[in-house]
Amino acid sequence: MERALISIHGIVQGVGFRPFIHRLVSQYGLCGFIKNTSSGVELELEGDRETLERFAAELPRRAPKLAVIESMDIRYTGELAGFTDFQIRKSKTEEFRNTLISPDICICDDCLRELRDKKDRRYRYPFINCTNCGPRFTIIKDVPYDRAKTSMSAFPMCPDCDREYHDIENRRYHAQPDCCPDCGPRVFFLDAEGREQPGDAIELARQALKSGKIIAVKGLGGMHLACRCDDEEIAKTLRRRKQRDEKPFAIMCRDAETAKQICLVSPEEEAILTGFRRPIVLLEKRQPGLYHISENRTVGVMLPYTPLHYLLFGDDMDMLIMTSANLSDTPIMFKNAEAVEKLRGIADGFLLHDREIQTRCDDSLCWVLDGGEYQARRSRGYVPFPVKVPGSRGMVLACGAEQKASFCLSKEDYVFPSQHIGDLKNMETFENYRQQIAHFQRLFDIEPRLIACDMHPDYLSTAYAEERGARNGINVIQVQHHHAHMASCMADNGLTGPVIGLIWDGTGYGSDGTIWGGECLMGDYQGFRRFGSIRPIPLPGGDRAVKETDRVAFSLLYQAGCDVSGMENGGMYAQMLEKGLNCPLSSGMGRLFDGAAAILNIKTRCSYEGQGAVLLEAAALEDEGEYPVVLEGEPLRFDWRPMIRAMVGDRERGTETGFIAARFMNTLVRVGMEQCIAARRESGINDVVLSGGSFQNMYMMKRLPKALEKLGFRVWHHRRVSTNDEGISLGQLMIAQHCAEKS
Ligand code: ZN
Ligand code: ZN
Ligand code: FE
Repeated sequence: MERALISIHGIVQGVGFRPFIHRLVSQYGLCGFIKNTSSGVELELEGDRETLERFAAELPRRAPKLAVIESMDIRYTGELAGFTDFQIRKSKTEEFRNTLISPDICICDDCLRELRDKKDRRYRYPFINCTNCGPRFTIIKDVPYDRAKTSMSAFPMCPDCDREYHDIENRRYHAQPDCCPDCGPRVFFLDAEGREQPGDAIELARQALKSGKIIAVKGLGGMHLACRCDDEEIAKTLRRRKQRDEKPFAIMCRDAETAKQICLVSPEEEAILTGFRRPIVLLEKRQPGLYHISENRTVGVMLPYTPLHYLLFGDDMDMLIMTSANLSDTPIMFKNAEAVEKLRGIADGFLLHDREIQTRCDDSLCWVLDGGEYQARRSRGYVPFPVKVPGSRGMVLACGAEQKASFCLSKEDYVFPSQHIGDLKNMETFENYRQQIAHFQRLFDIEPRLIACDMHPDYLSTAYAEERGARNGINVIQVQHHHAHMASCMADNGLTGPVIGLIWDGTGYGSDGTIWGGECLMGDYQGFRRFGSIRPIPLPGGDRAVKETDRVAFSLLYQAGCDVSGMENGGMYAQMLEKGLNCPLSSGMGRLFDGAAAILNIKTRCSYEGQGAVLLEAAALEDEGEYPVVLEGEPLRFDWRPMIRAMVGDRERGTETGFIAARFMNTLVRVGMEQCIAARRESGINDVVLSGGSFQNMYMMKRLPKALEKLGFRVWHHRRVSTNDEGISLGQLMIAQHCAEKS
């Protein structure tokens, strides 16, 4: 007999780890105890050496899905404590709220099997779940996480469910949302007027969808609008009713095989598509087309993730358009009554249920890059799981940006990024933002000692930070937008710097009060230097140029000395530019993309920000050509005028638009390379981080990192948080922590 002292570090609390250990220990017939510690769990077990070793080898392989085991140390000793049973011991740390809360997890294989098993008591029950799957974050009102503090408090367990819940051998042991047709929520179908219809709700919804109706379907973190995706007219109707002109819709496919019929799916993409988080994955279309769903080269595809989705698809449906039910910039709808009221005239029917959603959580959205998620929206399935950031200290609130708002709260090296919040300029969205900050603080017992926000004086997140700071007497640190992007990518990759940061996005408030966005920075969490940028672009009409991108095109052509005669409104723009009337300067890379897309006539009026860039990427053909790169001054600025002249020249020669688009992006890759080379020559820094919304361009992401690596750089892109402004809060948080330490 020997005693094994095992200590496990990582994310092993609040993820079903102790019940898992309990089960494993009883399988091996070992005695001892387990307890939580500040950084993981401690385990002491007695048995013969060989059994203990087999146990230790099996543990990491069978650990719960959400557990992250960073290290596991085992010491053996002959000194026995004489354990006679196995205990889950309470520890001091548990007096504090120190547990993590699981994200919502898609239905597991075991539950799916029962759902389809005629003999099972949960056959076709849309709310089947177990310890390994089901709703979590979206139904939790408060901690500690148990049924009474979730939406399930309205559904007392029946004796059968209660027995399973208390049986450690059962796969529903301590599954808080466990329920069955006898005791759990029910699903119902309402017509367009909100009247409940008699009959099988799911069957009614299926028939309505098949006959071309638009149906609101209640999901995990909000409502979807669903309809057939094989009919352009239906999609058009949905766009018209939802007032969503051109933004792509996501679709839900019954399985990965179905997705492969319309998209190219790599093994890595399939793994993430079918994984338990079930994000929307942006997949390349098999061939051009499906423009009524997405005008891009890609389509956002997800697989069913709730039992209700599986029942909805049945045996005979393959794909559905599934778009969040909201109106323009308002947050996703999540309450039954609200949906019925506000979707009047939009939805032809409602498939709802009486398990309340407590917290909104949109579908997550990502590309797959280098085998992992490359986030565009980190939300359902990921939130509220922390990202572990070595070097993060203390409790800080970072308030994020504005259009793609998110916040982060930290507690030592756990950083909790919020779900997708949306555009704060919408009042309801801003209200949800405030509520979610309060909710996260309560859930994770965080009382911030420091607040970080953007430098932009007009961001509502900045106003919130200042108001909170004043009210609670806490310091507020304003962080430059692109410095925050850079720090975010550093933290995402566990870097401490110094680094070179290529930070390319649409718009961010610069330290000098102008708009930045094509930046090459140098620095770390403590500070930065603006080493390089692009020649500022005057934007006739300021913010209007974000959507009316023909204004940017005019400005670029005019500055480059190209022929602008015959351009609509040209006379007016020329006057504005000449006199500097309402022509703020922007060094935003996004504007350069928009302008190029408009010059190429790909898109001259955008219905959403960044549309020009997206369509330019979609238009690009394979080509290795480049335009001249001129860099000069301090900061080292890319003078885009020779490039614009060369593009116009190509166009006049009748070169295909797709080739010019490719050459334009190849030129920007060259700009990134040249700026990094110059930055390294001066500083010796060899690590390059890439951040900012412009790096949602996969043409660039497939080329720029490789090109830099060829030059000997170590290149880092985002992995855990988004590269767009949603990821900014993480960077703000890290910079604020370091600022506070310095002073
Ligand atoms: Zn399950
Ligand atoms: Zn029951
Ligand atoms: Fe940005």
